[in-house]
Amino acid sequence: MSSLPSTHGSGFLVPAQAEIVGKHSFGPDIHAYELRLADPAKRPRFDFLPGQFNMVSVPGVGEVAISISSDPDEEILEHTIRIVGRTTRVIDRLEVGDVLGLRGPFGNGWPLREARWKDVLVVTGGIGCAPVTGAIEYMMRRRENYGRIRILHGVKTANDLIHRDRLLAWRDQPATEVLLTSDQPDRHWRDRTGVVTELFDEVEIDPTRTLVFMCGPQVMMRYGVSMLGERGVPKDRIFVSLERSMKCAVGLCGHCQLGPEFVCKDGPIFCFSRIESFFRVAGL
Ligand SMILES: Cc1cc2nc3c(=O)[nH]c(=O)nc-3n(C[C@H](O)[C@H](O)[C@H](O)COP(=O)(O)OP(=O)(O)OC[C@H]3O[C@@H](n4cnc5c(N)ncnc54)[C@H](O)[C@@H]3O)c2cc1C
Repeated sequence: MSSLPSTHGSGFLVPAQAEIVGKHSFGPDIHAYELRLADPAKRPRFDFLPGQFNMVSVPGVGEVAISISSDPDEEILEHTIRIVGRTTRVIDRLEVGDVLGLRGPFGNGWPLREARWKDVLVVTGGIGCAPVTGAIEYMMRRRENYGRIRILHGVKTANDLIHRDRLLAWRDQPATEVLLTSDQPDRHWRDRTGVVTELFDEVEIDPTRTLVFMCGPQVMMRYGVSMLGERGVPKDRIFVSLERSMKCAVGLCGHCQLGPEFVCKDGPIFCFSRIESFFRVAGL
């Protein structure tokens, strides 16, 4: 219990009520929900680090781990949710004015302090961009503290592209490149074609001053790490955000365990060299 962040106080197992104050849909299966805590006194407890997640609940239905995708400098907590199963199917039906339960924030954040004055390469696939969008907003607000920022984002089809406005806005920032690719492009797609790791050939990567933030499907991350290794980027400069089945979120139940690591409290962001041996084991 002592390893919990101090922001949790005693209420980390009891959800707070949060009102949906905005809902933006990216196609039928993915929505970004803007949440505001009903009790203003509880809002400071939800100060978060980019990369952390909340447990979002529907009373009587279930609770799901969802990354906070908003800018940490904003009071509104945004969660970008893909509708996949029992609980998210109920969340799908909720609209502005409805109320959700919220516990958190949990886990660690991206190594934004370590990344200061360095180049940052962000590699994401599909909805995998959600855990890192808050970190990118954070760096953009402090643009002078970071070197070159490259954002490589891959989607299956054009319809899977979420947070397009943000991606386009980051493209206009100084010393920032945003490359988008689709492996099943339609005739309206104007960006690259192929999988996201093919974009490594299009950017200059200085392995001595680059930190990599990566999230997306596990197979993408595995190939990504190996291809970055061929370009001289050591595994201890690559950080990945992991998803595992999660229940308590505070390191008690063991559902999310990966070898000796608890994804909920030791992660969800790990330096790749720390988890490499477990990452390769099928089913873990
Ligand atoms: C730290 C963390 C951050 C996450 N961030 C996001 C996010 O920002 N947006 C988002 O849409 N999802 C995110 N997820 C995944 C999300 O928690 C699951 O999609 C959700 O729990 C599914 O719940 P359900 O009741 O709707 O589906 P269920 O009925 O429980 O399951 C439906 C299907 O999804 C699979 N599944 C369930 N939970 C997970 C999980 N945790 N990881 C992978 N597959 C799962 C099941 O095996 C099943 O195949 C995150 C997970 C973790 C651990």
